[in-house]
Formats: sequence, C-alpha cells, structure tokens
Amino acid sequence: MSEQEPLGSSGLPVVETFHSLQGEGLHAGRSAFFIRLGGCRVGCSWCDTKHSWPAEVHPQQTLEALALACAEAASAGAAFVVLTGGEPLHHNLDALSAAIRQHCSLPIHLETSGVDPLTGSPDWISLSPKRHQPPRAELLQRCDELKVVVHDAADLLFAEVSASQAPQATWLLQPGWDCREGQALALEFVQAQPRWRLSLQSHKWLGVR
Ligand code: SF4
Repeated sequence: MSEQEPLGSSGLPVVETFHSLQGEGLHAGRSAFFIRLGGCRVGCSWCDTKHSWPAEVHPQQTLEALALACAEAASAGAAFVVLTGGEPLHHNLDALSAAIRQHCSLPIHLETSGVDPLTGSPDWISLSPKRHQPPRAELLQRCDELKVVVHDAADLLFAEVSASQAPQATWLLQPGWDCREGQALALEFVQAQPRWRLSLQSHKWLGVR
C-alpha cells in the first residue's frame, strides 16, 4: 500500500528506544530492546501510539547508532531486539537489520500489521492484522505469531479468516485495552478453541513501557 524507504537509507525516524520486558504475545515477560520507528498510515482508531504516525516529526537516527544501542542492550541483558512502531515495514528494514547483525547477535523480532512487503529477514514475525487494512498474503504465510486484537464479534470472524491463511503460526487473541466486550469475547472464544491463546498487554497492567 505504500512506498518504502530506499534500501541503504542511512537513517530512520525514531520515536524512542528503550530496554524493557516484552509485554504481549508468546515472548511476553522476556527482556527486550525496543526500537519504535516513526510513521504509520494504517490509522487504527484504537491505536495507543498515535504520536508515532507522522514520521517527519521524529528525529532521524543513524543505523549505526541504533545498532550500537542494540549491542549495549545485549550487554545489559536483552534477549532480543523488537522493531516496532508505528508501522516499521513502511520503511525498508534491510539495512537496519544488517547493521544490527553486524554489531550484536540478538535475534530481531518484528511487530507489523503486514500491509507492506517484508524486508529485513526478521527472526520472529509478530503479525497483528487489521480488518480495515488486511495484511499481505506473504506476511500471513510467514508470520510466527498471529495476534488479532478483539473489540467486537466481527473481529472474531476476521481472526478465523486470518488464521486459516496462517496455519504455521501461533494464534493469539488480544482484547482491546480497556474493552470489556473484547475481553468477554476473547475469553469465551479461547476457552472453546484450543488452538488459540489469550494475549494480554501485561506492560500496561504493570504501568511500564
Ligand atoms: S498499525 Fe499499529 S501503529 Fe499503526 S495505527 Fe494501527 S495500532 Fe497504531
């Protein structure tokens, strides 16, 4: 849906970098270094990082600086790097991933809505598809976890359709934050569907990033 930044771009817009615990998905509870890239045109109404949407307001950081930060995080105990956003795949991630791999051995995890072509050869793909902008088939076929956010019953149907195209993935339902209907629907669905798991945003419960 979008034009990605050219391969070899020397810098990327960065909202923030931080070392914390992964809060959601199969790797929840593990030490992780996050790189939140600026820029998202997917436009989810419930988005909790709307400040990340305009890429141009976030300062560019060099790939080397980002890779060195990953190496520092590795020394401080991070188990993996998370490329998140925003929508990180609005940018071509090949050069950033190569720079990270040059400076440290941490696995690279990618959190994406899947609307753009895959770049960067991540070690783990967490795909969170959106009903209003469905993901590319390539991402459905290659993701490691499929994490569908649930606000209403239509999201459950979307989850099932998405999962049918991602048989290799672990299937996760994540209630929308502070959404009672989503919580009730996700709990009932997972209880009746043994292939599915519940994902909670534990970092928000804990009040950490
Ligand atoms: S894809 Fe992610 S960052 Fe973009 S609007 Fe949706 S929730 Fe927000």
